Amino acid sequence: MLDVIIVGAGPAGSTAALIAGRLGLKTLIIDRLSPPREKPCGGGLTPRSWKLLNALGVEYPVYGICKEVETRAAGYSYVLKKEPIYVTRRPDFDYSLLKQSNAEFVKDQVISVRQNEVVGRASVYQGRIIIGADGATSTVARSIGIANYRREKTHAIAYMTIAKGPTSETCVVDFDAVIDGTGNVGYAWIFPLAEGANIGAGIGGGKWADLRQLVEEYATKHGYKPGKVMGHPLSLGYVAGLGRGNVLLAGEAAGLVDATTGEGIYYAVASGAAAAIAAYAALRIWGREKYALSIYHELVKPYVKEVKKTRKLYHLAKAIGTKKWAVKLLGRRLVRLYSAVYTGEATYSLLLRPVQRL
Ligand SMILES: Cc1cc2nc3c(=O)[nH]c(=O)nc-3n(C[C@H](O)[C@H](O)[C@H](O)COP(=O)(O)OP(=O)(O)OC[C@H]3O[C@@H](n4cnc5c(N)ncnc54)[C@H](O)[C@@H]3O)c2cc1C
Repeated sequence: MLDVIIVGAGPAGSTAALIAGRLGLKTLIIDRLSPPREKPCGGGLTPRSWKLLNALGVEYPVYGICKEVETRAAGYSYVLKKEPIYVTRRPDFDYSLLKQSNAEFVKDQVISVRQNEVVGRASVYQGRIIIGADGATSTVARSIGIANYRREKTHAIAYMTIAKGPTSETCVVDFDAVIDGTGNVGYAWIFPLAEGANIGAGIGGGKWADLRQLVEEYATKHGYKPGKVMGHPLSLGYVAGLGRGNVLLAGEAAGLVDATTGEGIYYAVASGAAAAIAAYAALRIWGREKYALSIYHELVKPYVKEVKKTRKLYHLAKAIGTKKWAVKLLGRRLVRLYSAVYTGEATYSLLLRPVQRL
């Protein structure tokens, strides 16, 4: 029997496989798609993301670099120069992580999990610990009765395209483009790549809007030629559960995404690594797979706490996003707050403490 079976070869699953392999666990990773596969994403690696990848000794491809971030809201523009945001391409990024794992890979679509079995369309796999890293609409989570995904109730929708055109060293985050176009709070982005940009838009809460046309028009307006526009649900930080029995949920399968920015790669890598460490401790130190979940809870507690904070901030952003006077009053401060968090200098918990005391 395998030590660990991982479902999903995104950043959460591939990081889990990489760390599990380094710890000497016999690991199988299953994905319904063969790598390199596309995953709709802005590909933005914030400083906290790349610092974590560097700390883990993981290599990753970079195709663009943002030396500054321009945030546009209610007609105002805030430019902030901090540590760079790197822009990657998800097919290559995820495949690079998977290759470094050296884990055995199988292409199969998982239908359910039960105790020590992962049931795929092609075969049934047996392992002592199962890590569900199968993303926003996780089959593994649903199979163990955890409702982290309930469409509009728990998730936003975001669209992106790889556009050809000018390159730059500025990331643009534009709330006005989505608010003016739909009346709802969300943002469009331009993340530079070597020969163009990753351009997209996301909108959260309420009924999902089809932003394909908005993304195409936004790209064209800024001098780019959009490619195919692809959409995907994006967790708004609902963490209903982290697993059950010997099954652990990592990354977006656990709902671990910053609800205000949509940043998920950082949490995927962190929780994927934590899940592998929890599996190692349960199997090799305690000799009992049933301990893995409680160890995992301890390791990811700070991330879950942070993600839950972002849900509160998300409601605040929704309330003030369309009000010019509120953006004028709070805009610059909020941009600074976010940049302190995404660079890893501070946490939302720390920064919101004075607000909670009021
Ligand atoms: C448009 C958009 C833009 C975004 N931009 C950014 C950004 O710039 N920066 C950032 O940090 N985050 C961004 N995010 C969020 C980020 O993409 C996700 O949070 C991240 O991909 C989560 O990683 P994961 O490994 O948990 O899941 P995923 O990357 O979704 O990987 C899940 C894997 O599981 C596989 N899978 C699913 N179901 C099954 C099944 N039943 N059987 C077998 N395999 C299965 C899938 O094929 C996939 O390979 C964005 C999201 C969207 C939608």
